[in-house]
Amino acid sequence: MDVLILGQPSLETLLTRVAWCAELLAYGWAVRKLDERWYPAVATLNSVLTSGFFLSLVYFTGQARSPYINLVPTVPLMMALVHPRHAGPAIGGGITSTLGVLGLMLATRDSVPHALGWACMVGSSTFFATYASGQLRKAQAAESEARLERARRESLEKLAVADRHRAQTEKLATVGRLAASVMHEINNPLAFVRSNLDFLRTEVLAQQLPDETRQELQEVMDETRTGVERIRQIVSDLKGFSRMDQEEPSECALADVVTDAARLAGVRLKHVAKLKVEVPAELPEVFATRRRLAQVLLNLLVNAGDALEEAKVQGGEVTVRGVAEGGRVTLMVEDNGPGIPPEVLPRVFDTFFTTKGPEKGTGLGLSISRELVERFGGTLRAENRPEGGARLCLELPVHAPTTTTTPLPLGEGRGEGI
Ligand code: ADP
Repeated sequence: MDVLILGQPSLETLLTRVAWCAELLAYGWAVRKLDERWYPAVATLNSVLTSGFFLSLVYFTGQARSPYINLVPTVPLMMALVHPRHAGPAIGGGITSTLGVLGLMLATRDSVPHALGWACMVGSSTFFATYASGQLRKAQAAESEARLERARRESLEKLAVADRHRAQTEKLATVGRLAASVMHEINNPLAFVRSNLDFLRTEVLAQQLPDETRQELQEVMDETRTGVERIRQIVSDLKGFSRMDQEEPSECALADVVTDAARLAGVRLKHVAKLKVEVPAELPEVFATRRRLAQVLLNLLVNAGDALEEAKVQGGEVTVRGVAEGGRVTLMVEDNGPGIPPEVLPRVFDTFFTTKGPEKGTGLGLSISRELVERFGGTLRAENRPEGGARLCLELPVHAPTTTTTPLPLGEGRGEGI
């Protein structure tokens, strides 16, 4: 550098540079070896020595006329840049450079005002370097505090959601236990209502009666029997749901799952929509808990019913379609309701997200359903149909490997082809 800048080599500057390099190596070693609490002192010492070595270069290369003198005001700025975490290095380097440049100027018999001017320039640069590094540290501290605060808020939110989830699960478990005992209470009187009804039917029809009266009585008895049978079926289905945790997953046919869910959903959908089932009996079996899957499907059907009722849709229709493709079986629950608004669609699977208000919705149906389906290796998606209404797709892997790639034909008595 001396050859390039000064036009000749210089032993003094070479020695200064070698000593400077040795100091930097010692500094690097000290930073690595010493405890963190020594860092400010070591960095300040390095800064003071660096400034001293630089001033030595200035001294050996012409003092006030040295080509390096113009760089002296940048030394405190450099120190602030290299050691931004502490004020000491910028201040130490700045004071050394200020006093050093003043001494150099006076030593070369420069005018005092000129020497003071230089000292003021280096002093101001020290002030700006210290101020800027202080501002940087403040900004960094504020940012890390904000990051900590954000992390703290996020973990508190997670905790609150977990708490609500647990409380809701406990509530559901209590309701389930209560429902199980209510169902037991209903079942007992139902058993004797059924047998008494059968007895009455036999007795009444054994009487000598006019044909018309006999016909009427028989119809009334049959209707009552059908009603009681329906109550029994619903109670037994609900009982199954309350016991479903004890069940292990096994091969199950989706057509049976749909039958289970449709029977229960019928109670909800009766006055709101027509339920169409288009699920081929030949759909490959999946490996899951039949009642759990029926619970998922029931959720989807009840949601469709709620949407149709809320939008007061005339001629409401809910369709369950089944299709097998590429080793996966898909059940689609479609309705001709208002569909899911675009701003709601990304959130429907969020825990506790509901648009139904606290009286009616818990916001748990879809999130629990997705969790259940994923447990069986499947997926649950929500979308809107191009022709209007919502479509929920429940996809599961088939239990046995299958090579079916086209939709299967429909099973007998289950509706039309898909
Ligand atoms: P909840 O039924 O208690 O509201 P869910 O998790 O089952 O909770 O549903 C979340 C939300 O998804 C509902 O509040 C509703 O806004 C929306 N949603 C679900 N199914 C449908 C559907 N078929 N049509 C329109 N919106 C639906």
